[in-house]
Amino acid sequence: MRIATSNSVWIGIIILVIVTFAPGIWFLMHYKSYKVLQIGSYSLSVSYQTNPLMFYAGVFLISFGIISILWAGYIYNNIKNNLIEYFSICPICKSPNVLAKISFSMTIDDVQTVACQNCGAKWKIKTSGATGNIKTVKLVKPSDDGRGQEYLSKETDPEFWASLAREKE
Ligand SMILES: [Zn+2]
Repeated sequence: MRIATSNSVWIGIIILVIVTFAPGIWFLMHYKSYKVLQIGSYSLSVSYQTNPLMFYAGVFLISFGIISILWAGYIYNNIKNNLIEYFSICPICKSPNVLAKISFSMTIDDVQTVACQNCGAKWKIKTSGATGNIKTVKLVKPSDDGRGQEYLSKETDPEFWASLAREKE
């Protein structure tokens, strides 16, 4: 099995880093400012003026960014392990020449695509947006020679396809 990751996953992670780390670091660098005391023509910096709201906002944004990235890693690994577990070989022709494309958004349910490069069969796999666990599997294209036609467009359990993959030709 070969696994490809959708570009939208990388773009999403880059956006996440930009919108959490950049303002987070800015807040932490600026929540303290010097209070400047002016005496005649002399100016002395004497004390800090701190803005606790800016400090908490900075800590929150950076923590949120780190947790989100760790969580994204967990979802990605979970999707990958599930696809390897159920689709390491094509359930229809038993070929290991299977291409899986991973895509996720961490919000609503996601759809993974698995395509057999040998017989042409193709599946859409619905995974949970929060955990990456497989919910349902749907064959969207039977093999080029028509095998699997009877399961076309039916929402099934992943175990159904794993048991087909284990069957001898
Ligand atoms: Zn196949």
